[in-house]
Amino acid sequence: MKNIVWFSEGTKDQKELLGGKGANLAEMTSIGLPVPAGFIVTTDVCRQFLENQQLTQPLVEEIIRAVATLEERTHKSFGGNQQPLLVSVRSGAKYSMPGMMDTILNLGLTDQTVQALAANTKNPTFAYDCYRRLIQMYGDVVKGIDKSHFESYLTTYKHKKGYPSDQSMVAPDWQEICEVFKSIYMEHTQERFPQDPLEQLLSAVQAVFRSWNNPRAITYRKIHKIAHDLGTAVTVQEMVFGNSGAASGTGVAFTRDPTTGHRGLFGEFLACAQGEDVVAGVRTPRPISDLAKTQPEIHAQFSAIAELLENHYKDMQDIEFTIEEGRLFVLQTRNGKRTAKAAVQIAIDLVSEGKITKKTALHRLTPDMLDQLLHPIFSPESLAKASPLGQGLPASPGAAVGRVYFSAEAAVSAHQAGEKVILLRQETSPEDIDGMVVSEAIVTSRGGMTSHAAVVARGLGVCCVAGCDQLAVDSFLKQARCGEVIIQEGDYLSVDGTTGNLYQGALSLVASQDFGLLQTILDWSKERADLVVRANAETIEEIKTAASFGAAGIGLARTEHMFFGEARIWPMRQVILAETTEERQVALSQLKTFQLNDFKELLLQTKEQKCVIRLLDPPLHEFLPRPQEYEEMAKRSGYSLEKIKQRIHDLQEVNPMMGHRGSRLGITYPEIYEMQTAAIIEAALQASEAGSVVYPEIMLPLISIPEEMRVLRERLETYIRQIFAHYQKEVPFKIGMMLETPRACLLTKELAPLADFFSFGTNDLTQMTFGFSRDDAAGFIQRYLDKGILSEDPYQHLDKSGVGQLMEQAVASIRQQTKGKAIGVCGEVGGDPQSIAFLRAIGVDYVSCSPYRIPAAWLAIAQSAS
Ligand code: PEP
Ligand code: MG
Repeated sequence: MKNIVWFSEGTKDQKELLGGKGANLAEMTSIGLPVPAGFIVTTDVCRQFLENQQLTQPLVEEIIRAVATLEERTHKSFGGNQQPLLVSVRSGAKYSMPGMMDTILNLGLTDQTVQALAANTKNPTFAYDCYRRLIQMYGDVVKGIDKSHFESYLTTYKHKKGYPSDQSMVAPDWQEICEVFKSIYMEHTQERFPQDPLEQLLSAVQAVFRSWNNPRAITYRKIHKIAHDLGTAVTVQEMVFGNSGAASGTGVAFTRDPTTGHRGLFGEFLACAQGEDVVAGVRTPRPISDLAKTQPEIHAQFSAIAELLENHYKDMQDIEFTIEEGRLFVLQTRNGKRTAKAAVQIAIDLVSEGKITKKTALHRLTPDMLDQLLHPIFSPESLAKASPLGQGLPASPGAAVGRVYFSAEAAVSAHQAGEKVILLRQETSPEDIDGMVVSEAIVTSRGGMTSHAAVVARGLGVCCVAGCDQLAVDSFLKQARCGEVIIQEGDYLSVDGTTGNLYQGALSLVASQDFGLLQTILDWSKERADLVVRANAETIEEIKTAASFGAAGIGLARTEHMFFGEARIWPMRQVILAETTEERQVALSQLKTFQLNDFKELLLQTKEQKCVIRLLDPPLHEFLPRPQEYEEMAKRSGYSLEKIKQRIHDLQEVNPMMGHRGSRLGITYPEIYEMQTAAIIEAALQASEAGSVVYPEIMLPLISIPEEMRVLRERLETYIRQIFAHYQKEVPFKIGMMLETPRACLLTKELAPLADFFSFGTNDLTQMTFGFSRDDAAGFIQRYLDKGILSEDPYQHLDKSGVGQLMEQAVASIRQQTKGKAIGVCGEVGGDPQSIAFLRAIGVDYVSCSPYRIPAAWLAIAQSAS
């Protein structure tokens, strides 16, 4: 096993062993790009180290030999007094975890070598600035000394001297700072700052390995579902200096705009600075186009390298570079993080540029990116009335409204209390991750498009405005000033991550209208999909939205949802409270008028497509009047108040979700289902009279007993024949059933001949299989997740081993009994991209989900199909 791999030996395909950074440095070296020399200590070593908490002697010796080789290759000497070699020690895991682990720069500087560096470069200001950076970073990363101890001293020093920025500092200033930093180091560690470069290097390598397990890295891995046992590699690389003079600098650039996806170099550059200054957002950088004015040859060379790298990797690259005294070096390349919109735009453009196939493009996207494309925007009306309070960089798109908090902790606790929060900070750092995850939007007053806040927000899909320099943020006083306006903790703020505008108060949000890109992805996905997506929808608006996302018909129209609203709820209540069939018939005839229109609209809207209408499945408690409505109910129904109370008391259920619901209601009050069936069939007759081809499919909920299905089907079919006879006309129709109890799944052999189609109601099936009440489970499922008893919430992601097993054998048994009967899934997991591959594998014909989940479902199907 190789513990150390030279850049000149590795390739881009070795990310697991060399980490993403190391593998790409190796690749760039092999294609001849100007990469400073270096080697990689592998992730294998990291895993061993984390087990034993120490570097083995043979490994230490290997590192010492590698340093000697690096000295030869660079013609410099580590700790030498002539040409001192300085190195960077960086983390680099298989998956990029920006800013989560540690890095140390300028290793090799000591009281001796700093003098040599000053003499060689004839730039003591630069040399001592490097030295103080090393003491500070080493103190923080290796010894855990809080950065603020160093930074606050530096701030006070500059203040005392009247310096506006670091730029004003000269050599004696940095020399003095170095002395003070060494004493801060001594004070916290009781040790001298190490003067042996090898000791520095070995401690740094261990600290970087350890940083794999720091809390923010662990949180990041949890959020991004990265395995905890991968470990990080460490790259040890010759330092080049962006801070060594006016002809030096450092920058980060993307080969395409990471926010919009548009083609063209997009990045930032800081003259006379080290990489950390750009990423940390401490100084606000200049656009990379400025480099074309100040150093045109370098700009041209960099542009050519950027294009070469993008063509080589066939994806948008995020490239870090440094210019040392007019010489360009590439320090890192990786596939750039991007917004959902940019991801989709880039995937589409790379296909049209002939660089990747449609299949590759679809696999580069994640279903949640399509969700993000549907992000809300501010309504034009509310925007027309509002004027921006300030503007920053549009770092991550979408619009958000929430209450302002000035620290991650405050944001987290407000979120836990049910508030929508906006995290407002001067700049964010990786420690803020918990607060960022729960925020509707992140706003910073400092930093650029590649600052921590911007990069992390884009990755999370959270709206972000960065570098809004009109804001003076005081997190101690918990307020921010923007011109005359003071924003206090808890105030509402509206944030537009697409324009960078901030607005006081709460603007109203509407769904995004930017569906152009989505359409192409939908078309490509549908070309590859081998099962279809239907919609769970009842209203015309929902059906139209579903249609615009390519829904292949309706998989579930929940008829009980048609009874919300003043005009309908009272007759519906009357149906429930009626004691006799006759009383119930009166209320039902009122409802039939509504239903006939509902179904006609539904069928006309979905004409020529399948339309599954589920007969009433109301958990009764959702429809019963509340105590304050008893009097009104009495007035409307003509029953006495006493009788109303008595009837409600009689109807009360201990567990309504497992109570008098679904087909049970159809059995006990057949006139309810008859009314709905009549309304569906008459609507279909009228629609077909008007020339439309319609396919009503009547679905019976919560069947557990084959006899329930037999009885209901017979009764409804008889009734339908009477309607046909009455109208002397017929329309095609089907009667199907939901599979949402374990018993139904187990008895599919008997049920298969009784239904024309089947649809898994996984919400109820999950409830009944686990015995977890749908209404009450949320309270304890989180604890189960925390304790690792469950790895996922089965209401969000299908429980493949239990519920999935029932489904799998039910599908197999239906297919064995009958041919050509559609089997779908209309519970919540039907729209869950993570569950779709399984549903496809067990052989369902369609999934059905709410309209906004449809695009992601199509993509998930296309991805699992190829
Ligand atoms: C289900 O149970 O999965 C289902 C779709 O029906 P409902 O959620 O309306 O009970
Ligand atoms: Mg159900």
